[in-house]
Amino acid sequence: MRILFLFIIGIFSIFSHSQNKEDSAKAELLLNEAASFYKKQNYIKALNLSKEALSLSLNNNDEYHLALSYNLIGSIYGDFSQSDRALNFYTKGLAYANKVDNDTLRLWLNSNIGGVYYYNNIDIKESIRFYDKSLELAEKVKDSLQITFIRLNIANAYFELENPDSGMAYIKPLSSYIEKSENLESKITYHDLLAKYYSLKGVNKKAEENFLKAIGFAKTFESPYQLQDVYQNFANHYLNSGNLIEGKRYSKLAKAFEVDVASEDKLDTIDKVATQIELDEYRFQFERIEIKNELQNQKIRESRILIIGFCVILIILLVLIYSLYRNKKLVKKNNSALFLKNKELLAAKNTAEEHSVLKSQFISTVSHELRTPLYGVVGLSNIILEENKDLVNQENLHSLHFSAQYLLALVNDLLDINKVEENKIILKKNHFDLRKELAIINNSMTFMANTNGNQLSVCVDEELPEQLVGDELRLSQIIINLISNALKFTKNGKVSIEVKVLEKKSEKCTVEFAISDTGLGIKREDQERIFDKFVQIERKQGDYLGTGLGLPIVKKLVELFNGTISLESEENKGTTFKFAIEFEYLDTKPVEINSTPKEKRMKKELHILVVEDNKINQIVTKKIIQRKNYPCTIAESGHEAIELLKTNVFDVILMDISMPILDGYETSKIIRELGIETPIIALTAFERGEVEAKAKEHGISDVIIKPFNPEILFETIEKLFAKSVS
Ligand code: ADP
Repeated sequence: MRILFLFIIGIFSIFSHSQNKEDSAKAELLLNEAASFYKKQNYIKALNLSKEALSLSLNNNDEYHLALSYNLIGSIYGDFSQSDRALNFYTKGLAYANKVDNDTLRLWLNSNIGGVYYYNNIDIKESIRFYDKSLELAEKVKDSLQITFIRLNIANAYFELENPDSGMAYIKPLSSYIEKSENLESKITYHDLLAKYYSLKGVNKKAEENFLKAIGFAKTFESPYQLQDVYQNFANHYLNSGNLIEGKRYSKLAKAFEVDVASEDKLDTIDKVATQIELDEYRFQFERIEIKNELQNQKIRESRILIIGFCVILIILLVLIYSLYRNKKLVKKNNSALFLKNKELLAAKNTAEEHSVLKSQFISTVSHELRTPLYGVVGLSNIILEENKDLVNQENLHSLHFSAQYLLALVNDLLDINKVEENKIILKKNHFDLRKELAIINNSMTFMANTNGNQLSVCVDEELPEQLVGDELRLSQIIINLISNALKFTKNGKVSIEVKVLEKKSEKCTVEFAISDTGLGIKREDQERIFDKFVQIERKQGDYLGTGLGLPIVKKLVELFNGTISLESEENKGTTFKFAIEFEYLDTKPVEINSTPKEKRMKKELHILVVEDNKINQIVTKKIIQRKNYPCTIAESGHEAIELLKTNVFDVILMDISMPILDGYETSKIIRELGIETPIIALTAFERGEVEAKAKEHGISDVIIKPFNPEILFETIEKLFAKSVS
C-alpha cells in the first residue's frame, strides 16, 4: 500500500523577488499536467513534463516549484524502484522545501522518503522515522487527510515488522474519521490494514471481513492499483493461514492487474531523462558558478575601483596635508616676515613722527627766529623811508625794504602751506560780521590799491545775513590773498569784491565771493598750474612781491571750507576768481563791542607800556606807537615791567613772549596776580595757534603776530581799552 503525496494546486504562491511570475505559473501548470499523467501511470510523459518544470524553475530560481518538481520526479523513479535516484531527488526537494520553509512540502517529502525506504525494503525502521517526522508536520499544519494517510503508512510499516500492536496504535484514532470520510482511498487502506492486523493476530474471521470490505471499496475506486494491492494482501493472508486454494485464487486475481511498469523502453527513457536532469542540474550549477564568478569578478572590479578611489582620495589627502603643511610653513614664514616688516614700519612710523615733531619744531623756531629780525628790518626800513623823505628815491633802500618784505611773506607763506598740508588748520566757529571784515580788508588794501592806481570796490548782497558762523580770519586770508594778487597784476584798473548770497535756507546760506580785476589776465594754458606751489607766470626779478604760494594756500583753505575755487580770465582783460562757501548764520545784529564812537577814542591819549627785550624791536614798536602820538614806555624785561606797573598806570601793555629769565606768559601771570587788569596784547613772532591758548591761560587779552599791520594793532589796542573802561 502506497500513498504518495504529490501537490495541491494553487495552495502556495510563494515568489521571491527575483522570480518571474509567469515562469512560476507555467511551472505549476506543467507539474499539474505531469501529476495527472503520473496518476494514470503514464510515467514518461509525467517525467518529461516534470523535467521541463524543473529546468524552468532552475532558471527562474523558483525554489518552491523546484521542491515540487523533485518530489514528482522522485516519485516516478520510486515507482521504477530506482530507490537511489528517488532518494536523491526527494532529498534535493526536501532541501528546497526547507529553503522556502514550507511545512506541507516538507511533510510530503518526508513521507515520500519514508515510502522509498519501506517499499524498496531498504530500511523499514528508517521509513518509520521519516513517516513520524512527516506526521509531526501534518499535525502542525492540521491536515486531517494527510494525518490519516501518514498514520496508515506507519501502521503498515509496523505490521511489516510484525509489530501489530504498535501499528494498531496509529490506526485506532482514525476509525471515526474514516467512517465519516468520503475518501475511498483512505477507506480501502484502513480496512486493508485492519485486515492485516487481524491476520497477524490470528483473528481470521475479522481479517477476512475487513479484506472483503476493502475489496468492496477498491472495486468502486478508479485506480486498479489499490484493488491489486488488497488482492495480494488477502492472498498472503490465506497463504499464511494455510488456506492455499483461496490464497492461490487471490494471487491470481492480483496478478491480473499487474502492470509492467518497467519495460525495457521505459527504463531506457527514464535513464536518459535522469541523465538529462543531472546534465540540466550541472549546467545550472555551472551557470550559477559562472554567475557567482561574474558577481565575484564584478565585486573585485568594484573593490578595485574602490581601492583606486581610496588611493586617489588618499593621494589627494596627502597632497592636501602637504600643501596645508607648506601653507602653514609659508604663513609662519610670512608672519615672521610680516612681524619684521611691522617692526620696521613701527620704527619708520616712530622716526616719521619724530621727524614730524622735529620739522614742526624747526618750522616754529625758524618762523620765530626769522620773523623777529625781519620785524626789525621791515620796521626799520619803513621808519627810515617815512622819516627821511629825501631818501625816498634811494634805489638801494627800496631794494632792502622790498627784500625784507619778500622774505617775510615767504616765511609766512611757507608756514601756512606747511600747516595746511599737515592738516594742522582747524577752522573756528566764530560769529562774525562779514560786512565789517570786508570793510577792514578794504581799508587795509587801500594803500596797495593806490600804489598801482587801482580802484577797489566792495559790493555786498543785501541778503547777506548780519552774522555768519565760521573762521573769519581764514576767510579774510583767502580774500586778502586774492585781492592783493588782483591789485598786483592790475595797473590803473578796477578791482572789485562781490559777495552774493546764492542760497539761503533756515539755518545755512551759501555765499559766493567773486574777486575781479581788469588787469593782465592769465593765459588759458597757465590757468590750471597757477594753483601749483611756487608757480609764478613770467615773473621778472623784483617786479612784484610774491612767493608763488598764495594761490595754493587759497585753494587749500577754500577746500577746508568745503568749497571749490574757479577762475575766469582773459589776457589783458582781467581775471575773476570765484568760490562759494556754506555758512551757518544768524540774522540778528551783532552786539556792538565798541560802543564808544571811534572819534572820541582817537582823541584820547593812550599810554602804552611796551615790554620787549630786543633793542631793534623796541625801536620799531616805539616808532609805530609814536606815529600815532601815543606816549610809550619801554620795559626791557618782565621784572622791569612789573616794577613799573606797581607805580604807574598804563592803558595797554604790549608784551613780547620770548624774553630771558621771565617770559611774557609768566610776567602777565604776575601782573594779573597783582590785581592789575590793564589789557595785555602779546606781540610775538610765534604762530598764533602755538601761543593763543597758553596766552589766555596767563591772562593775556589778545595776540598779534609780528610783523603786524599797524592798523590792526591800533584797532586791537583801542578795542581792548574801550572794553576795559566800559
Ligand atoms: P604770487 O605770490 O606770485 O602771487 P600766487 O600763487 O598768488 O603767487 O599766484 C601765482 C601766479 O598766478 C602769479 O605769479 C601770477 O602770475 C598769477 N596770478 C595770480 N593772480 C593773478 C591775477 N589776478 N591776474 C593775473 N595773474 C595772476
